[in-house]
Amino acid sequence: MSDRLPGFSTLAVHAGAQPDPTTGARATPIYQTTSFVFNDADHAASLFGLQAFGNIYTRIGNPTNAVLEERVAALEGGTAALAVASGHAAQVVVLQQLLQPGDEFIAARKLYGGSINQFTHAFKSFGWNVVWADPDDFASFERAVTPRTKAIFIESIANPAGSITDIEAISSVARKAGVPLIVDNTLASPYLIRPIDHGADIVVHSLTKFLGGHGNSLGGIIVDAGTFDWSTGGKYPMLSEPRPEYHGIRLQETFGNFAFAIACRVLGLRDLGPALSPFNAFMILTGIETLPLRMQKHCDNAKAVAEFLAGHPAVASVSYAGLPSDKYNQLARKYAPKGAGAVFTFSLKGGYDAGVNLVSKLQLFSHLANVGDTRSLVIHPASTTHSQLDDAAKVKSGAGPDVVRLSIGIEDKEDLIADLEQALG
Ligand SMILES: *Cc1c(COP(=O)(O)O)cnc(C)c1O
Repeated sequence: MSDRLPGFSTLAVHAGAQPDPTTGARATPIYQTTSFVFNDADHAASLFGLQAFGNIYTRIGNPTNAVLEERVAALEGGTAALAVASGHAAQVVVLQQLLQPGDEFIAARKLYGGSINQFTHAFKSFGWNVVWADPDDFASFERAVTPRTKAIFIESIANPAGSITDIEAISSVARKAGVPLIVDNTLASPYLIRPIDHGADIVVHSLTKFLGGHGNSLGGIIVDAGTFDWSTGGKYPMLSEPRPEYHGIRLQETFGNFAFAIACRVLGLRDLGPALSPFNAFMILTGIETLPLRMQKHCDNAKAVAEFLAGHPAVASVSYAGLPSDKYNQLARKYAPKGAGAVFTFSLKGGYDAGVNLVSKLQLFSHLANVGDTRSLVIHPASTTHSQLDDAAKVKSGAGPDVVRLSIGIEDKEDLIADLEQALG
């Protein structure tokens, strides 16, 4: 073996996986079992007490899921990862380790519509208070910091317009405030952007999107960068204080630079319960093997479609960071040089009615609430994903009434352009 470090495409195929030791199976088997037999009573006790690593029960861990966790941790450059049932579950589990009732976190205003809902409504019932900031103005994050701030949350490529966030600028605000930076890397995938290289402490994904990539399985994942010191100032008692449920051990002291991933597993996933099915883990692992090929094609197609739309008389504007004229193009060149992703918006001169009309005329594009499928997708955010926002908030989050969002698939770009051409009329 050479001592060369494997490249991204090699990791996407191999990281975390070995031929099955008992059968020789080369693809990762689906370990479809709820529980695992202990060697003896001492082994069982040491697993329950966190003195040994091993399998107990699939709500806490599963060998198929473990391959997925190791693979995504390798692709993102983190120390460890935890797979969960969905992207939203990942967000709940992360914040549960960081916030006590009455605490705050700062979130970028440009987010997936479901995250805006989750943060505004569901998290309020846990006593976790979201404070919104403008991802295009890092000083707005600085101004939002209070003694109760426990985390900052942004998307690397942000919904719905595919805008690029200046991760390094916001990371420096987080460093100064002494709180971790959480980056939702769903729209970029680690093929385009690795947030940990730019100062993220925690990366979350909806695996449902580009990582799984085929629109067939929900999943989420949390990646621990291993960079944050949880012991400072007693701000993170879940990590720094003795845990009564584990014989008084302190997670940071015991697990060092993967303590956050352990906390998410043994305090979050164990007690909240959003475990990923091993079958979904298998589907997502299979998807990840082709991530570099798919992602490049998604980006190349998206750029061609954005260029077509920018030249069409019915189109008022196109927000795609990959276009040289776009306001995020400089940031795209810095953070995502291989491509600016495949999710973006454009607005129609005919406003709301034209948006609804377009969506109904498209044939190859599917009208649905998802992104990151092999198939091309379309939605009108103002009447769907962002409909819960008032008009001013819709515009601020990039989902005004005239805006249409596309997620460009891996079909032939000429066919996508022809479909848009007939629908724009
Ligand atoms: C889809 C999505 C989520 C939520 O993920 P689910 O798997 O649907 O729970 C979170 N963030 C972003 C950016 C997403 O696209």
